[in-house]
Amino acid sequence: MSGVALVTGGSRGIGRAVVNRLADAGNDIAFVYQSNADAALAVVEEASKRNVTVISRKLDVVDLDQVREFVRDVEHDLGPIEVLVSNAGITRDSPLAVMDHKDWHDVIDVNLTGLYNVTRSVVRGFMRRRRGAVIAVSSVAGIYGNGMQANYAATKAGAIGFIKSLAKEMGRYGVRANVVAPGLIDTDMSSVLTAETTEKLLAAVALGRLGTPEEVADLIEFLASDRASYITGQVFQIDGGVVL
Ligand code: NAD
Repeated sequence: MSGVALVTGGSRGIGRAVVNRLADAGNDIAFVYQSNADAALAVVEEASKRNVTVISRKLDVVDLDQVREFVRDVEHDLGPIEVLVSNAGITRDSPLAVMDHKDWHDVIDVNLTGLYNVTRSVVRGFMRRRRGAVIAVSSVAGIYGNGMQANYAATKAGAIGFIKSLAKEMGRYGVRANVVAPGLIDTDMSSVLTAETTEKLLAAVALGRLGTPEEVADLIEFLASDRASYITGQVFQIDGGVVL
């Protein structure tokens, strides 16, 4: 599909690679990010080199009004959105017994309510036009669970239930919805792990290395495209072969 794609969390890491990969495939792109305007501008410049239009806005996916306003502006300026990549996510790791309540709520808000907010804001247009693809970025933590990540894993498992439900509800409108569940990927998010933790996690990875954001972006671009026209309601692990 080359049309207009909306990507959340496009300023760095996996989201940045997704913006570039979707631009390679000829899509115009609108992305949102949380804080670093310089990083976002660099991504806009980088992706625009592919002769597509790329715009960005700093907004909080937790704020439904801001998300709705951005969707309206994007569709006015670039045309109908046909692809949504809900990628923005945060971690606030802690043992459950001492988890700060705020860390619970913040992670639920960004990772799960953020997914709801962006999907809810685009999906009526998808139904009306009988065309659209939603890809949610979950995690292997949402499939296997992960110590110190009860909040994060709950949101990533929640994303799977959300997308599978959406796929069932929207199939008759020609709208597809899929989940990509990465393992350990080399980004700012994983760079906070100690060398010892990374080594321990990699011991369970058949390929024995971290994945790159570009490897994840390739899969997401495929799922967003018409090459994946008969694929919906699926969860794709991209984790180097996690053996748990
Ligand atoms: P990252 O921290 O490098 O980037 C996160 C992006 O999300 C940034 O652009 C940030 O601005 C944006 N963001 C965060 N909160 C936001 C908010 N409230 N509103 C708008 N934007 C917001 O993370 P990453 O490693 O690239 O992860 C991207 C996605 O992949 C996340 O959903 C993450 O849970 C998932 N994931 C990452 C890994 C990994 O090892 N890096 C593994 C599995 C899943």
